[in-house]
Amino acid sequence: MIIIYSDDFLKHNKENHPENKNRLIAIKNVLDDKDYKTIQPKPIKNVENEIKKVHSKEYVNFIKNIKSDIMLDPDTYASKDTYFVALKAVEASINAANYALNKKYSFALVRPPGHHACRNRGMGFCIFNNVAIAAEYLIRKNKAKKILILDIDAHHGNGTQEIFYYSNEVFYISFHQYPAYPGTGSENEKGAGKGKNFNLNIPLLPYTNDEEYLKKLKIFRKVALEYKPDLILISAGYDIYKDDPLTQMNITIKGFRKISEYIKETAQMLGIGVAFILEGGYNLKGLSQGVLKTVETFYKK
Ligand SMILES: [Zn+2]
Repeated sequence: MIIIYSDDFLKHNKENHPENKNRLIAIKNVLDDKDYKTIQPKPIKNVENEIKKVHSKEYVNFIKNIKSDIMLDPDTYASKDTYFVALKAVEASINAANYALNKKYSFALVRPPGHHACRNRGMGFCIFNNVAIAAEYLIRKNKAKKILILDIDAHHGNGTQEIFYYSNEVFYISFHQYPAYPGTGSENEKGAGKGKNFNLNIPLLPYTNDEEYLKKLKIFRKVALEYKPDLILISAGYDIYKDDPLTQMNITIKGFRKISEYIKETAQMLGIGVAFILEGGYNLKGLSQGVLKTVETFYKK
């Protein structure tokens, strides 16, 4: 597994906010302890234009021109450094997706997260929709014809759903606590137009445990085997952990290992690569140990 990381991702930060730099520091410490090496993100040519294929020019320019600490909404902070950091997170995510296209396993350890970011606005701690920009990049460059995005963050990825709602080239499937923030993610949201039935929401009750989660995850494998994507992108949130302060799911560290194994087996059945792109996870133990379980699983032959 290729792990992409940069200390620059620590530069978007707000103390006492749940989405702060300590999240990545905790992950990096655990990986360093186990001697897992990371690589720096590689620049993507004209990456700002790539971002503008998913987000409006107005929104991207707005983020670019922030000069001081501001709040985009009651949950989402931004500063003069945010544009540079979020841009690098996009580059790391595209790098990871490119590895997956070449049948490799990769993990982009990025901040800020992305899956709530909509076309015209950031929200829910998210600035640019990393996973959506990476998927759009591969489709538009004709590198991939079909991409499956599996979103295992505890929250529904309303931004990713919005961006691909009318597309059959990207299949979005999300498992999330429901009802919960941001309020979207019911079974009735199935996509529209060409994208009808290419958007699948699996709402989960609070306190869903490992066994129940893994049972539900079979739907992901069924979808993947039928859709036959060229690669799988994972919106990898670890806030389904049992002690996460923001949500009420009941997944253990062992559960993260089993979920990772299930995803890997599914990719092996299809003979394709997988790119994990970090989203949420606010209990530092659950987050760092959860990522470690994913890394260990995908390192093994
Ligand atoms: Zn989340």
